[in-house]
Amino acid sequence: MDNTDIIIIGAGAAGLMAARTLTKTGKKVILLEARERLGGRIHTLENGTSLQPAELGAEFIHGDLPVTQALLNEAGIKYSPASASMWRYDEGKFIAEGHVIEHWDEFFESIMQLKHDMSMEDFMQQEFSGEQYEGLRQSVRAYVSGYDNADPKKASAFSIRKEWQNEHEDAQYRIEGGYRELINYLADEFKQAGGHIFVNAIAKDIDWGQHHVTVTTDIGITYHAKQLLVAMPLGLLQAEAGLKATISFDPPIDYYTDALKSLGFGAVIKVLLEFDEAFWYSDEVRKMTGADLEDMGFLFSKEAIPVWWTQMPVHRPLLTGWLGGPPAAERLHASNEDMLIQALESISNIFKVDIGILKEKLLTWNVMNWTADPFCRGSYSYDTVETAEARKILSHPIGDTLFFAGEYLYEGTAMGTVEAALTSGLRAAEMLLEYK
Ligand SMILES: Cc1cc2nc3c(=O)[nH]c(=O)nc-3n(C[C@H](O)[C@H](O)[C@H](O)COP(=O)(O)OP(=O)(O)OC[C@H]3O[C@@H](n4cnc5c(N)ncnc54)[C@H](O)[C@@H]3O)c2cc1C
Repeated sequence: MDNTDIIIIGAGAAGLMAARTLTKTGKKVILLEARERLGGRIHTLENGTSLQPAELGAEFIHGDLPVTQALLNEAGIKYSPASASMWRYDEGKFIAEGHVIEHWDEFFESIMQLKHDMSMEDFMQQEFSGEQYEGLRQSVRAYVSGYDNADPKKASAFSIRKEWQNEHEDAQYRIEGGYRELINYLADEFKQAGGHIFVNAIAKDIDWGQHHVTVTTDIGITYHAKQLLVAMPLGLLQAEAGLKATISFDPPIDYYTDALKSLGFGAVIKVLLEFDEAFWYSDEVRKMTGADLEDMGFLFSKEAIPVWWTQMPVHRPLLTGWLGGPPAAERLHASNEDMLIQALESISNIFKVDIGILKEKLLTWNVMNWTADPFCRGSYSYDTVETAEARKILSHPIGDTLFFAGEYLYEGTAMGTVEAALTSGLRAAEMLLEYK
């Protein structure tokens, strides 16, 4: 295509947000996307017999987040509260959340006084190595791996502290029709403003110089422009060369890619199980478990798949399982069928329902191992002890020509979210517009 101003690689939330912002100012932009679909880590399915939306990737708006909500409001896309009660299943008992983790206050006080950053695991070993803190250590590790998808041996204690300090009891929301509504809106806006999207276009080689870029895809198609915005996931930018979707730069930009490697990128496996009925609300399960799970949203356990959630406030027979951090990374090569069995065993143990009965009740299932996904290779980013230094390099474009965007480049408090990706896309577009 002649006279292209900017090529964007990656049609996730960051790439699409940048694309639509740039075309609206009159820039000629093309967007190359490796997959057949748009959205990246936003992947809404029509699931089950009712074909209602179900999310294999992002699902919640985690609090009142300005960029996401402004975009949804502008698009007229509705979203509604998804807050629900939390439960813990431990040693055969259901405990309503609100239960206090032993030694938590002591832990919080101690981490607030930490002067030099270190990994979360080192901090726990340094300050809370005693036997009496075993429960506390387990809870902290479970949170860091589950919520942040991070390896506690690498995750920065400062960054986890910042996250916990900023944790508010904000409502969570789900988008009506699923997150794909937001992706469709951005893509429509981009195309209407004259932008072009090429799917099944895996970018491979980037030849560049000041104000000129040539991108060659896996099947040898070339695209030319004045500038490039790389909006690919961190997992691919950190990976060794030679994988299906890794890119290479000529001339190389090693100082930049080395800085990228000092950020953390988590691992996650998400499981969707849709049953013929929401048996966890039944009288039978109530009698068996001794708990009234009528308004259960999230359930935390020590099972192989430890975290589960329902579609509360809607009583839909869909359970979502979540395995994050090192245990998910260890299952890089696990088959989807193996993960299904682990998921059913976890549910069987928790709700005391025979696994044979669960299999009969199961209507549809999906497993998404994001670390095994060739176009992502992980879940979302987290800060390591080296990240703060690396960000000084990553926050600048290269030679007015190579720009980067993605959730991993965001520095606010909603790390690893769609908000982070949208904000980063917007910021990259603004930087590109500074160069005429
Ligand atoms: C399981 C899971 C659950 C999550 N839950 C939530 C949630 O509830 N709420 C929330 O806010 N966030 C959530 N997130 C995080 C959120 O999904 C991401 O932060 C966000 O979607 C990332 O957007 P992005 O544009 O930075 O990257 P991506 O969405 O990964 O987009 C990058 C794009 O680049 C493409 N690409 C890769 N390589 C190439 C190549 N060589 N050539 C061309 N294209 C390429 C990819 O196919 C992809 O489309 C979740 C993430 C996961 C994995």
